Amino acid sequence: MPELRTVSTHCPYCALQCGTRLTRERRGVSVQPTDFPVNRGGLCQKGWTAPSLLDVEDRLRTPMVRRRGELVAVSWDVALDTIAEGIERIRAERGPDAVGVFGGGGLTNEKAYLLGKFARLGLGTSQIDYNGRFCMSSAAGAGIAAFGLDRGLPFPVTDLGGAEVVLLAGANPAETMPPLMQHLRSPDLIVIDPRSSATAEQAALHLQPLPGTDLALALGLLHIAVVDGFGDSGYIAARTSGFADAWQRAMSWWPERVERVTGVPVTAQRRAVRMLAEASSAYVLTGRGAEQHSKGVDTVAGFINLALALGLPGREGSGYGCLTGQGNGQGGREHGQKSDQLPGYRLITDQAAREHVSEVWGVLPEVLPGPGRSAYELLDALGTGNGPSALLVFGSNPAVSAPNSGHVVDRLRALELLVVADFVPSETAELADVVLPVTQWAEEEGTMTNLEGRILRRRRLQVPPGHARSDLEVLHGIATRLGEPGHRYPTQPREVFDELRRASAGGKADYSGISYERLDAGEALHWPCPDGEHPGTPRLFLDGFAHADGRARFAIVEHRDAGDVPEQVFPLTATTGRVLAQYQSGAQTRRVTALNEVSPEAFVEIHPDTATRAGVSDGALAKVTSPRGSAIARVRVVRTMRTDTVFLPFHFPGDGRANLLTGDALDPRSRMPEFKVSAVRIEPHRDV
Ligand code: SF4
Repeated sequence: MPELRTVSTHCPYCALQCGTRLTRERRGVSVQPTDFPVNRGGLCQKGWTAPSLLDVEDRLRTPMVRRRGELVAVSWDVALDTIAEGIERIRAERGPDAVGVFGGGGLTNEKAYLLGKFARLGLGTSQIDYNGRFCMSSAAGAGIAAFGLDRGLPFPVTDLGGAEVVLLAGANPAETMPPLMQHLRSPDLIVIDPRSSATAEQAALHLQPLPGTDLALALGLLHIAVVDGFGDSGYIAARTSGFADAWQRAMSWWPERVERVTGVPVTAQRRAVRMLAEASSAYVLTGRGAEQHSKGVDTVAGFINLALALGLPGREGSGYGCLTGQGNGQGGREHGQKSDQLPGYRLITDQAAREHVSEVWGVLPEVLPGPGRSAYELLDALGTGNGPSALLVFGSNPAVSAPNSGHVVDRLRALELLVVADFVPSETAELADVVLPVTQWAEEEGTMTNLEGRILRRRRLQVPPGHARSDLEVLHGIATRLGEPGHRYPTQPREVFDELRRASAGGKADYSGISYERLDAGEALHWPCPDGEHPGTPRLFLDGFAHADGRARFAIVEHRDAGDVPEQVFPLTATTGRVLAQYQSGAQTRRVTALNEVSPEAFVEIHPDTATRAGVSDGALAKVTSPRGSAIARVRVVRTMRTDTVFLPFHFPGDGRANLLTGDALDPRSRMPEFKVSAVRIEPHRDV
């Protein structure tokens, strides 16, 4: 395929997927934002500096295999033969589930689809999951239970600008996706965040609960809505079921009790409900702050309950949505790289789904394995004799991004074979036995699905450097060495997408009417799109929800403690999140000089009184310790932090890993780890 001088594509980072135009100039690649609806000519620092990713200094250019402790450059044949031999040996000794696969929410739809197929057919393993389990799985679980369908935003981003009020529960888009803020300029914002984030600073009302108590707050807001007569009884009767049981639970969360548990004053609770209820159009949006808890599904469900009681979801100009995080966080969860799902967002345990997908794949349904372990459980089981002895990682850096990071790194080290496909030597790649250099963003074709369920084209501007190859070619290469027929693993993205369309047909996320031709012609297509004439579905639920009876379901939820509860030894609560200039594990953004200058190192935000008590001072290094381990971070004393809480960003490696602190408490349904609550103590760092 020839190189082009200019292409229309999208930013490589977050789920907003801002539209960009890339041009190859004599001195490198330049980027310009386009008038794409989500960004309307805007980009954040990460988008403006994205071309720097194309020539990062330590870009992986050749495959490497570990020999006598060192990674040494080898040919593709040697690397792929090494992988295939290792897999054959391990499978022969311990069976197909001894090999695992770990995917990513930044992979294109084509890669996510082929990775799931490769795991189930090529490896025959049930042991596949992906890092999206750490981001969006709680909202997905709550959304499916409430509405029968999970699509981050069931309406276009541009609808938000027409609202009078938007409640953001646990989301900080002013830092995570700044161009979104132009759609939030006219609504009054209510922000729920223990931290006075950049978004909270722009809010008409900021509620600052103790981390881990958001569900109590959601129950309390529902209580006020009902008691103060703001419930939309006509909507509740006509479009929902289960209200009475949900109300039974909310009844005991009167405002003063909620204030005691969450720290949010009664007046602020009442004001929030009044603002939402009196608006003629309003949205409730949740983010990772509501999700990343051992009760994440219930917490999101608590906010959905509130939205339902006020009659918002499925109404023109109002609604509920989840702000998805990773670039393909939406598409990444629809095409089969989740341990419990097949393409089309189908359950792997559903016999009709197994029959449909196996027919597309040309195998019998009984060939498909059953559900595997969720992401953290998979990592936790590595090298134990009970879980996989080999792991293939695509598009993820779990050595930094997984919770309980010290333990996860130990498990990765215990593997007999760790294979990492990436375009930079991430912290996980540094541990690998085989490292495969793969294409990135502007070097490949494909599709992504943004937070609105809109399918977008990623376009190739230039050829990859050195010997880097597409992940699709890598999967083909390994699968054929394992004896699989080559035609099962197409290497051209368009061919993979055409198969994905057939596999998704009739599923919840139906892509069957979407084609490269339609996308290249400029059509705006949101799934479901069941045939070639269908215009796509930008707004869901206006005529009814996706449950068989068309009604949304209230959830019965009850507040409970987090996995960690602060006590004498660990008296504070640490919560984690993102900053503007870094992205996810930082493997990409830490290599961009302009971003690293803005945000170069791990830090901990702490209230001045807490800092004084702990003996730490602004600008000095502190040691933050939880029951799992310690992280070293630069102290930032901020008056806006709660006195019982500290905040650490999770983008940094080594001793600064915030995930050295986080634990293994999981939501019982979504298996989402509890990134947002760790009991910690803080003290001055003494370098020894
Ligand atoms: Fe890229 Fe997200 Fe920034 Fe847009 S908001 S430029 S998609 S990182």
